[in-house]
Amino acid sequence: MICAGSDRGGSVECTHSGKRSFWKRWAHSNLSSTSVPKSDSPCPCLSVSSSSSSPVIAFLHQIIVPPPSLAHCDPRPAPAAPGLEISGDVARPPTDRPTELAGAMDAGYLFTEETSLYNRIVLGSLLPASAWEPMPRLLQTWLRNYIGGTLIYFLSGFLWCFYIYYLKRNVYVPKDEIPTRKAMLLQIYVAMKAMPWYCALPTLSEYMVENGWTKCFSRISDVGWLAYLVYLSIYLVMAEFGIYWMHRELHDIKPLYKHLHATHHIYNKQNTLSPFAGLAFHPLDGILQAVPHVMALFLVPTHFTTHIALLFLEAIWTANIHDCIHGKLWPVMGAGYHTIHHTTYRHNYGHYTIWMDWMFGTLQDPIDDGSKKEM
Ligand SMILES: [Zn+2]
Ligand SMILES: [Zn+2]
Repeated sequence: MICAGSDRGGSVECTHSGKRSFWKRWAHSNLSSTSVPKSDSPCPCLSVSSSSSSPVIAFLHQIIVPPPSLAHCDPRPAPAAPGLEISGDVARPPTDRPTELAGAMDAGYLFTEETSLYNRIVLGSLLPASAWEPMPRLLQTWLRNYIGGTLIYFLSGFLWCFYIYYLKRNVYVPKDEIPTRKAMLLQIYVAMKAMPWYCALPTLSEYMVENGWTKCFSRISDVGWLAYLVYLSIYLVMAEFGIYWMHRELHDIKPLYKHLHATHHIYNKQNTLSPFAGLAFHPLDGILQAVPHVMALFLVPTHFTTHIALLFLEAIWTANIHDCIHGKLWPVMGAGYHTIHHTTYRHNYGHYTIWMDWMFGTLQDPIDDGSKKEM
């Protein structure tokens, strides 16, 4: 994919910048010309983020300049740029590079290819190409996360409510303890207000992964199944530990509780908790509790697809632990434990399992009173 560029003032300029506003053209030519080779260059949109020596310039470029599109570029075969080979319609690392360097470049290419696929699946199936393809890449990523997160939130919330409050009426939750419609609508309102901010975190983490700043790997075959499972276990322990302490500090540090976490704790009775409370947080509170997932990327080799899946699993999991139904599945910290957290404020800060609360002395088991609220 070679841009039909022209040589102006010693730098290569894309001819496809003509349709943009003045400031975008200025940003495009100025940011691009700092690092793009003079001749035989692939489209500067493609090369700047990987070739620029400054992460700040690369970051600004991603925000301001839309990603390359086949429609912008000359489809005729052209000589490969220094440092890249042309294979099909994408630039790939040359095979005669030192293995380590070629591997790193190939990994960056694979991450970008994977996230582009997600964009095509989510955005391409919901929006016309002309609406999302011209967007800057970071905005595409954010929009895809926003749509995906919103869909998962409503699907998991509605399906779970339908099952426990309608299909299994009076089985798990007595009729007079079903949360009111008003309470659920308020939870949806709080969650939807925060959703655009939540999505900034996976957008940032994808940007860091694509630029090779994390320990992510793209294919399980890169490390083998055994190493994958070991790394995944370490990742999950880190996430458990991080989320436990982040949640606990959000209670212990009074200003944090007052200004952030209290928003989630207005639902402090069983009949005010519903699956829709799962994402009803102050935006910064929700982001802080997801930060351990991103920190783990810098500490342990992580399969990128698994990381994305785990982030979105959070939306389903949080819906599940706010339905007040005690699952009784050791060592899972289900809704029975989390309902206690909402009523005592001092117990069960953990996430998927009871282990962190058990280790740090804050575990309180749900009282087995033989009530109907068990599965
Ligand atoms: Zn809490
Ligand atoms: Zn909660």
